[in-house]
Amino acid sequence: MFNKFSRQTLHKMKKSSLSERISSSKRDDAWLLSRLDYLWSNFFADVTQINPVFIGFGRYSKYRLGSVRLEKTTKKTYITLTGMFKDERIPTEVVDQTIAHELCHYAHGFSSPKARLHKYPHYGGIINKELRSRGLEYLIKAYAKWLKDYRKSLD
Ligand SMILES: [Zn+2]
Repeated sequence: MFNKFSRQTLHKMKKSSLSERISSSKRDDAWLLSRLDYLWSNFFADVTQINPVFIGFGRYSKYRLGSVRLEKTTKKTYITLTGMFKDERIPTEVVDQTIAHELCHYAHGFSSPKARLHKYPHYGGIINKELRSRGLEYLIKAYAKWLKDYRKSLD
């Protein structure tokens, strides 16, 4: 007796349900902007915004979850998050942690016109230190919890 679906069909089904989740997601660039605004106004209010800062989803990446860059000619800052985060099964705290991480870089003068406060963007755990000092320990914890399972799913 054979199963109704072959393994290939099963994989296809899994794939289509992921792309369905992403295409029907309520998470778009406007939603990301609302998360950025929430974090900035409530936890980074002392960090003045001295240039235009944009945020948006990039392509689907399993390993690069977020990045921030300063466009030298226009002096605009762009925060990009992996398209994977459109999947609403990924907790909002994980998305928030990634945005807050990039905001720390901005505050420290990386990918922003601000003065550099450190030699390297990730020197000696400065990001988590910064997040903790701003009352964002809960994001570090939520992210670590998610990452544990996520790493397993990559194997
Ligand atoms: Zn970083």
